[in-house]
Amino acid sequence: CGIVGAVSNRNIVPLLVQGLERLEYRGYDSCGVAVYVQSDKPGLRRVRSTLRVAELAQQVDTISMKGSLGIAHTRWATHGAPVVRNAHPHFSCGRGAGTYATFGNVGLVHNGIIENHEALRLSLELKGYKFDSQTDSEVIVHLIDSLYRGDLADAVRRTTAQLHGTYAIAVVCKDEPYRLIGARVGSPLILGIGKDGNEHYLASDALALSGLTDKIIYLEEGDQVDVRPKTYVVFDKAHKLLTSAERPIRVVDVRSNCIE
Ligand code: GLU
Repeated sequence: CGIVGAVSNRNIVPLLVQGLERLEYRGYDSCGVAVYVQSDKPGLRRVRSTLRVAELAQQVDTISMKGSLGIAHTRWATHGAPVVRNAHPHFSCGRGAGTYATFGNVGLVHNGIIENHEALRLSLELKGYKFDSQTDSEVIVHLIDSLYRGDLADAVRRTTAQLHGTYAIAVVCKDEPYRLIGARVGSPLILGIGKDGNEHYLASDALALSGLTDKIIYLEEGDQVDVRPKTYVVFDKAHKLLTSAERPIRVVDVRSNCIE
């Protein structure tokens, strides 16, 4: 139901949790956050909960979760019960590996409904992917993993070409810990420009970013965005690179959610 993502040079875990709190008004049955952690075993790490965001924040504190790349989600279940296993972020750990893991190769949050998830699931299972949840969303993360050849934006592009339905997604990969990819069809997704030019955000709406930035780019149907701490590029559904005139930065009054 709600998405927040961030890529920066500083610890972004508090702003992801705060973003989820600001999205609580949309309603949700579970929530979660995943970040790239640079510990003795670098990789994607996640915490998920069927309780309130405040409880998720406590779990985050308990494990002292820190990182400069991350994604977070509030879920309103459409496929699969509201249990921790079905909560986002979803991980892919590659073929053959179980996905009910603390660490992952690719991490994903999704809002929307994937209509052809059953066919995609079957073909991914034949390739050796093991599913952990009953969600439609999990096919996306394994499809990205199966198409990944060292360029996350390319894998996401080839994945969304196979999806039928609606989606706003934010995707991270442990092999590219400075890169956040977003894409949307039928569900909202915005790009936020960080104040000092050192970080960028993805979110479902500008309210999630209030206090962080009022500079917003509204992504349009079929857009994909490739985001790094200091730069971003937006492509349309035909994979054409868009100019800043085509996807302008708007200054938004976040309290009223209006464009000034
Ligand atoms: N269809 C997905 C699920 O059930 C995403 C739901 C949402 O938009 O929160 O997990």
